[in-house]
Amino acid sequence: KLSKRLQMIADRVPLGSKLADIGSDHALLPTYLAQQGVIVFAVAGEVNPGPFEAATRQVLECGLSKKISVRSGDGLAVIEPGEVNVITIAGMGGSLMASILEAGKRKLEGVTHLILQPNVGEDQVRRWLLAEGWKLDAEAILEEDGKIYEILTATAGHAGDKSSQEALYAEHMLPGGVTVTRERLLQMGPYLMKEAPEVWFTKWESELKKLAMIEGQLKLSSADASVAKAEQIAQEIKEIEEVI
Ligand code: SAM
Repeated sequence: KLSKRLQMIADRVPLGSKLADIGSDHALLPTYLAQQGVIVFAVAGEVNPGPFEAATRQVLECGLSKKISVRSGDGLAVIEPGEVNVITIAGMGGSLMASILEAGKRKLEGVTHLILQPNVGEDQVRRWLLAEGWKLDAEAILEEDGKIYEILTATAGHAGDKSSQEALYAEHMLPGGVTVTRERLLQMGPYLMKEAPEVWFTKWESELKKLAMIEGQLKLSSADASVAKAEQIAQEIKEIEEVI
């Protein structure tokens, strides 16, 4: 049985996919999806030897070697252009995720769906998707074992998507007269902000506490850079408070 987090990612993989799961660790996601008959083929990519061996063992033990190819390599280096149509990357930071996608751009030819679950730095993933013409389709948020995770799904952009994506992140005013900046939308998620699930509030309440702590630390110093950073964080806190 998958964790709630991996199950939610699995639920977003379209039937009949050829999948690449990058940073697959024990290859739990591709093995589950192959067993369920959701995917027809998968590449499980791993850069580290330990997880690579764990993935290899798992696929062998499940008798899935014909369907799942376990490959050792950095990011998208493990796939050929056109080989897969869906990519999942889960359980790493958003900046690493964005750099993996950026470095492997050439490999995204023929990829129609990206399902991404950054542990932190979701804004960097949204920023990359927006800049590269991907269409953010949906956002989900969940809590498991006291941790909160977001899952972002994007589809390959078509002509005309650029303006819809610009609209998704457009600065706008809330009924109460509060301005929601593009920066806040990238940080907090345009769909999550609209749907405002309970867990999303919990997340931002806890982020606000962290930011207040950082602000407090910075205020102990009188260095110009610290003062400036503290002011910036104070503004960020104010904006987040207004949005939630
Ligand atoms: N995707 C699984 C999940 O969500 O449960 C495993 C997440 S695990 C915390 C992150 C995995 O990403 C590790 O096994 C690590 O070795 C792998 N990883 C980190 N950087 C990578 C890269 N540049 N290319 C491929 N795998 C990478």
